[in-house]
Amino acid sequence: MLVVMKNDATDDQIEQVVARIHELGYEARPVPGSDRTAIGIVGNEGALDPSPFIAMPGVKEAIPVTRPYKLVSREFQSESSVIPISEDIKIGDDTFAIIAGPCAVEDEALTLDIAEKVRAAGAHMFRGGAYKPRTSPYSFQGLGEKGLKILARVREKVGLPIVSEAIDHTVYDIVEEYCDIVQIGTRNMQNFSLLRRAGRSTKPVILKRGMAATVEEWLMSAEYIVNEGNPKVILCERGIRTFCNHSRNTLDLSAVLFLLQETHLPVIVDPSHASGRREQVIPLSKAACAVGANGIMVEVHSKPEKALSDGQQSITPEEFGQLAYEVKHIANIVKELGKCL
Ligand code: PEP
Ligand code: MN
Repeated sequence: MLVVMKNDATDDQIEQVVARIHELGYEARPVPGSDRTAIGIVGNEGALDPSPFIAMPGVKEAIPVTRPYKLVSREFQSESSVIPISEDIKIGDDTFAIIAGPCAVEDEALTLDIAEKVRAAGAHMFRGGAYKPRTSPYSFQGLGEKGLKILARVREKVGLPIVSEAIDHTVYDIVEEYCDIVQIGTRNMQNFSLLRRAGRSTKPVILKRGMAATVEEWLMSAEYIVNEGNPKVILCERGIRTFCNHSRNTLDLSAVLFLLQETHLPVIVDPSHASGRREQVIPLSKAACAVGANGIMVEVHSKPEKALSDGQQSITPEEFGQLAYEVKHIANIVKELGKCL
């Protein structure tokens, strides 16, 4: 249930509604908007009776929220969330956000070289895995804390905010300490204790879609984080498993369109893991921008043929330069024409 206050409702009237919600044994989540405040009721199992609220002073209406996810739905908050990352970088505003960097941090000189090149080409944020979730236990598992330290030094020199993955709750604290954004990967989308941990953080979280998750399951995972107290969630579509074998995964751009309607959270696209193929990364990035996604996260490596993970889908810094150039043109056209929705 969403209790929408009148635009001239006083703070006292808002507090009375919050107190009534608590009295009934539920939690209240006020969402101040540009003209009026709405108060979400969470913690109820079934449908709620709107009558106790409608009669209260300052209340305009009480709307049942029909979705299983509440806090992340547009029913609950109609304005799009803009997530601040650093003083001058945000995700979810008018700028098409570009995150680029290697799949894994391998060594400092290489990481710095890639970061300098992607920044010069127009990246807004830098990615690099220090803890890698690998299918094989014999594959490179990442440099761990040493990798995070490299990322922190690279941020100092290059000035881009950094994104890295927390693969489990034992490393969440340290990844959070070093990074500007913590990534929760596809294999952990339904790791509920990790989602709760992310919800107790003040750092933004990129929540990747589970490789076989429905959009509803994905939004419920985001709800875990927001419900625990962290509203800074960015959804990342990274392709799903299908019967197709011409690409590593199938990029589900219609899910992006659906999400832009269904949730106020920003939605970005990872064309690298979606395709698994270098030659598809630029076209899919442009497609993501054209459907109105809020940004992309792309794997870039100076020597893809020697990369310790995901070389086949990593583009070179030069190719990234072309990508950034083309995507910025598409972003301008999208802005000019208005979003598809
Ligand atoms: C990654 O971004 O490096 C990664 C492992 O992605 P995903 O969780 O989407 O496979
Ligand atoms: Mn990768």
